[in-house]
Amino acid sequence: MDRTKYLLIGGGLASLSAAESIRERDADGAVMMVGRETYIPYNRPPLSKGYLLDGDWEPSDFRRHDDEWYEQQNIAFRGGVTATAIDIESSEVAMSSGDSVRYERLLIATGADVIRLNVPGADLEGVHYLRTIPDADALLGASKAAEGVVVVGGGFVGLELASSFRQLGLDVTLVYMEDHLWSTLLTPQISEWLAGHYRDQGVHLLPESQVAAFRGDGRVGAVALASGSELPAEFVALGVGVRPATQLVDGTVLAGPNGIATNSRLETEAPGVYAAGDVALYEDVVFEKRRRVEYLGAARGHGTVAGANMAGGDEEYAEVPYCFSDLFDLEFEFAGDFDVAPDHVALDGQPSDGPFIARYFVAGRLTAAVCVDREEDEVDAVQDEIRAAQS
Ligand SMILES: Cc1cc2nc3c(=O)[nH]c(=O)nc-3n(C[C@H](O)[C@H](O)[C@H](O)COP(=O)(O)OP(=O)(O)OC[C@H]3O[C@@H](n4cnc5c(N)ncnc54)[C@H](O)[C@@H]3O)c2cc1C
Repeated sequence: MDRTKYLLIGGGLASLSAAESIRERDADGAVMMVGRETYIPYNRPPLSKGYLLDGDWEPSDFRRHDDEWYEQQNIAFRGGVTATAIDIESSEVAMSSGDSVRYERLLIATGADVIRLNVPGADLEGVHYLRTIPDADALLGASKAAEGVVVVGGGFVGLELASSFRQLGLDVTLVYMEDHLWSTLLTPQISEWLAGHYRDQGVHLLPESQVAAFRGDGRVGAVALASGSELPAEFVALGVGVRPATQLVDGTVLAGPNGIATNSRLETEAPGVYAAGDVALYEDVVFEKRRRVEYLGAARGHGTVAGANMAGGDEEYAEVPYCFSDLFDLEFEFAGDFDVAPDHVALDGQPSDGPFIARYFVAGRLTAAVCVDREEDEVDAVQDEIRAAQS
């Protein structure tokens, strides 16, 4: 049986950040990363943006380190291998390759899996989701061969895909269930402004629309909506959410309904076992509640803290939740807690006039902010304001 001091499960940026952090404290301890994908860790955000828009990126253009770095750091990366079972009592993880690995410290950073619509025609060719480089390659190929696309989902990935495909010159119809775009983050008023921007760019918006089926003979040709109408579709791109990839911990004490619970040090209830990134349901000390987020910044921050603690440190993750998105010419940044809808919004700048910050208040307390096209120091300052407002 293989043995390693640090076993990092997952080949994403949470795992990589943990490896970097471990190496800052422990130059020699054996580190093994195990990843289901064959690629060494890469940034996913460009997959729905620059990768589609430019069309000629190589995966190496957006990975964080090249192969040589892993060699220099003495980090063993096992790509194309899935961890299939954990035995917490004996500190062992079984791998799809048939072997098992014994660890001293374990990180579970398995990320999230896309939610797939379970409707008739779901398996037709031309129905696409996006999480990985091969997914993006398939979308890129489809976009080059088509004049139009139906995008499903009015959140992060759906909006970004609609923006990218429209910029590529495709006829884009965006279908979403909610009555306004990005309903988890935007007030109806700000959302209406964004919808206007999408319409101005030529995107057809279909709110309050639910997909009932995909129609076609082998290959998708139309999207049937619950309303009874049908949209012709050369291909379909869906961004309807993700769920934490927790299969590995099913049947263990770490299993839970919404990710793997940790404290603010990213350690689970099993001593020496940590979780980070999209899969972690972590203790948010700023807002004093358990939270799971699906953002790059948290994945990196969690990984850094978990890695430090795995290597003997005592660090706490205490960041205000933050994420970014690029839609057409607009740079969005979101900070804070969007779980409760604001009862008051203070605007600094007007959406219709250019850059703005919308501060969200709940019962008189600043809880979150939406920043569009604002400078980095302004966004940092808003995060400080949000943090101060909770103490
Ligand atoms: C298209 C797209 C655009 C995005 N854009 C933005 C953005 O603009 N801004 C932003 O803040 N965030 C964005 N995100 C979200 C961000 O990329 C994620 O929050 C981040 O990737 C999470 O990192 P992670 O390491 O936790 O998980 P992941 O990146 O999902 O990595 C987990 C890895 O673990 C592997 N794995 C899973 N189970 C196992 C197992 N049992 N054994 C071995 N390996 C396993 C998976 O295959 C995967 O490679 C985007 C995501 C996508 C998909």
